Amino acid sequence: MKIIFLGAPGAGKGTQAEIVSERFGIPTISTGAIIRQAVKEGTPTGIAAKTYIDNGALVPDDVVVSIIQERLAAPDCKNGFILDGFPRTVPQAEALERMGIRPDAVISLEVDDEVIVSRMSGRRVCGECGATYHVVSLPPKREGACDKCGSALTVRRDDKPEVVCDRLRVYHETTEPLKGFYASLGLLLSVRGADSVGETTARTLRALGVKNA
Ligand code: AMP
Repeated sequence: MKIIFLGAPGAGKGTQAEIVSERFGIPTISTGAIIRQAVKEGTPTGIAAKTYIDNGALVPDDVVVSIIQERLAAPDCKNGFILDGFPRTVPQAEALERMGIRPDAVISLEVDDEVIVSRMSGRRVCGECGATYHVVSLPPKREGACDKCGSALTVRRDDKPEVVCDRLRVYHETTEPLKGFYASLGLLLSVRGADSVGETTARTLRALGVKNA
């Protein structure tokens, strides 16, 4: 099973991808998480990507495509995978096609911009393992600490309100056209993402054809 999650920043792609990933026993590949890790480690890719990510801009297609190409070649991807945050441009989707990778389903999580802006102000991320939380809708068991590894939770630099508006603009201009790309291939499944995590998961699983979700 190869699934792509599309949606605005903060639409819930990462959260839903993790849940579906556990359910289907396939890995989630988040280009954002890979890039943030590279920035943290100060690798050449990280150094090249830092300015883009901090400003809410997209990292150039060739950089992201080579990251994904390398990751998808790993053995854990052989039974399928979930892509969270890739592709984000039509050229990236075309590059995926050229790699011979055609997704089975593309879930587009639909959330209005106003909901996104208020959601992003409450998002917290573990600086160590990258797990994400929300102060209201998905709080950690112990305030300020990651449930998985106990490390401190922080606000992502690109979740600051002024950067969020830029990221939403980039989403509408550059990423949203992917809906048409995948609709024309008959793969697009639009899912309402504005309600609770549980409701969105149920809708996502039903869209994927899981019975009794
Ligand atoms: P995310 O964690 O998916 O919100 O991604 C955070 C940031 O990483 C984005 O705002 C971009 O700067 C960069 N990024 C992640 N995935 C991509 C991609 N597929 N293409 C270009 N830039 C990306």
